[in-house]
Amino acid sequence: MRIILLGPPGSGKGTQAQLLVQRYGIVQLSTGEMLRAAVAAGTPVGLKAKEIMASGGLVPDEVVVGIISDRIDQPDAKNGFILDGFPRTVPQAEALDDLLKHKHLKLDGVIELRVNESALLNRVETRVAQMRERGEEVRVDDTPEVLTKRLASYRSQTEPLVHYYSERRKLSTIDGMMAINEVTRAIHRQLLALGAVEPKTHGKTSAKSAAKAASVKTGAKKAKTAKKPMKTIKKAAKTTKKAAKKATKKTVKKAAKKTVKKSAKKAAKKLTKKRAKR
Ligand code: AMP
Repeated sequence: MRIILLGPPGSGKGTQAQLLVQRYGIVQLSTGEMLRAAVAAGTPVGLKAKEIMASGGLVPDEVVVGIISDRIDQPDAKNGFILDGFPRTVPQAEALDDLLKHKHLKLDGVIELRVNESALLNRVETRVAQMRERGEEVRVDDTPEVLTKRLASYRSQTEPLVHYYSERRKLSTIDGMMAINEVTRAIHRQLLALGAVEPKTHGKTSAKSAAKAASVKTGAKKAKTAKKPMKTIKKAAKTTKKAAKKATKKTVKKAAKKTVKKSAKKAAKKLTKKRAKR
């Protein structure tokens, strides 16, 4: 699975990315975290990024594109990844398209967490208070002034990506104001609709296995109609139900036939025995 989480600072991207990592065993690629690590380590990238980050600006595109390209090549990203905080500009999105094409990788989709801006300041303030309580170091850019700047930069530079990915039929928008577990559930539903994850099957009976097989068969159809995922999923579910019904009917019929045959054989044997006795 390869997805992008899109949303302003404080929208819950990091939290949801963590949950997805645990659930699907993929990696979270957060450019913000990578840059903070570079700043802490005092690398050339870190030195370049330090001031920009502290003031709430954006680090140059070529710097973050380079970081992401290298990171995607690491073995732990082979299973899939969630991009968190990247891309943040249209040129970064174009560069990502190019580099994925070059690496023969496909992006499954982009999940936008839409939030009410006036709630964001509260959220970030709560996050800062909780971090202080735990004795953790607070980010230098988590102040009301810098957050206002980060939000402005999201609106002008990152929000155009909503249009960019919606035009390419990659975008799914989720209400990020819901409770954390509700957002997680909504993301999971979208991932299913995108075909990025497999639905869980608990089937044990033959009818259920047949249904599973039927849903595999409809997979080719599903890929063709991937532009209308919800419609396709509903259709696939219908086909699956039908197949399950058919399979059950067939099994019952077969069993009945077997029983009739067995009883007939038994009766014939009995009759032969009786005759022999006579
Ligand atoms: P984040 O942790 O995603 O909020 O990022 C923290 C800061 O890192 C941002 O305010 C930017 O200064 C910088 N940054 C992170 N990702 C990017 C990116 N994709 N492009 C440019 N700057 C970035």
